[in-house]
Amino acid sequence: MSVLNNNIMDTLRPLNIPHSDIPPILLRVENLEKHFGGIVALSDYHMEIRTGELVGLIGPNGAGKTTVFNLLSGVLKPTAGRIYFNGREITHLRPDQNSALGISRTFQNIRLFNQMTVAENIKASFHQRLGCGLWSTLLQIPAYRKSEKKISIECDKFLELFNLTPHRNEPARNLPYGVQRRVEIARAMATMPRLLLLDEPAAGLNINETEEMMALIRNIHQEYRLTIFLVEHDMRLIMSICQRIQVIDHGHPLAEGRPEAIRKNPRVIEAYLGKTKEKHHVKN
Ligand code: ATP
Repeated sequence: MSVLNNNIMDTLRPLNIPHSDIPPILLRVENLEKHFGGIVALSDYHMEIRTGELVGLIGPNGAGKTTVFNLLSGVLKPTAGRIYFNGREITHLRPDQNSALGISRTFQNIRLFNQMTVAENIKASFHQRLGCGLWSTLLQIPAYRKSEKKISIECDKFLELFNLTPHRNEPARNLPYGVQRRVEIARAMATMPRLLLLDEPAAGLNINETEEMMALIRNIHQEYRLTIFLVEHDMRLIMSICQRIQVIDHGHPLAEGRPEAIRKNPRVIEAYLGKTKEKHHVKN
């Protein structure tokens, strides 16, 4: 068993989960490396995430967090290393192929169809999964009408779940930032992913909006038994909702464990605050 596997076992042991009930590994990353010219953004990066886990990825600015997400979602190709999803190697797949396999993500800078309404934005994602093909759409045959009806019903459910019903017909560009973030997550969820990658879901949100975001992530994690991997700078969010946290620094894993252990880990404190402030703890 690898060191990381032991870390996961350490995380699960206090929860009294019997060995036989430990969920299977959904994502495995081995020795991932990414160079940008002379810059080594990631080196010997490894990670395992089990089905149903809610895991956080933290690290100082420039540590390589977004690069990890870009590699996992297929936006970037690694210089070396391998990525496995649900037992299948996906290292060199494109974003649309990863999405079809069940990996969905949000971005640090929100990416919505700004001219389209909230409902249209969400429906566009449902079309990827439930749409019935070009010819049926052009000819508007019964199969097309049936799939449109299904998409409409599913979209209404999502509008409710994400508290977006009042904004249903508003163009995305008119929405406050916090609402746009919820639309982005709803869109990612509408592809019914098995793994949801959230890149800084609380970025730009005020305290109340961050509280709402925490509740929303907890809710979708529990409601859909979804596996979530999230990058976040907001320590309160990460410490209070994640079951396990991985810390990276200079593109390399530095520590991994339950939030309370990470908060006290001297190497993590040093990476965040520098050697001179070792006595401080990472605050939640
Ligand atoms: P932050 O918390 O500030 O968002 P991060 O942990 O997400 O940072 P990355 O954005 O992954 O860090 O960047 C890791 C390193 O790779 C940095 O040194 C960054 O400058 C570099 N880098 C990232 N993308 C590129 C790119 N497209 N071209 C060149 N260098 C890049």
